[in-house]
Amino acid sequence: MAVGWSRDGAVQEQIDATVESGVQLAKSRLPEGESLTHCEECEIAIPEARRKAMPGVRYCVQCQSELEEKQKTITLYNRRGNKDSQLK
Ligand SMILES: [Zn+2]
Repeated sequence: MAVGWSRDGAVQEQIDATVESGVQLAKSRLPEGESLTHCEECEIAIPEARRKAMPGVRYCVQCQSELEEKQKTITLYNRRGNKDSQLK
């Protein structure tokens, strides 16, 4: 019984850690505030389902994916730059 208890406890800790980091990741990725009814970039209507699924959403699917592509490039570039400057 004692062995079973400690194993369950370890699994639960792992689940808690996973959920917590997942929430933090989601929070870091989502903009703050109310969802917009229309895309900030192209002003197309954002479906209500999308606004509910992504609180604080500001762009349509098209613009969001384009922005994420750009952000990925910028993040990679900055990460490399910061690493170099920190080493010196
Ligand atoms: Zn758009």
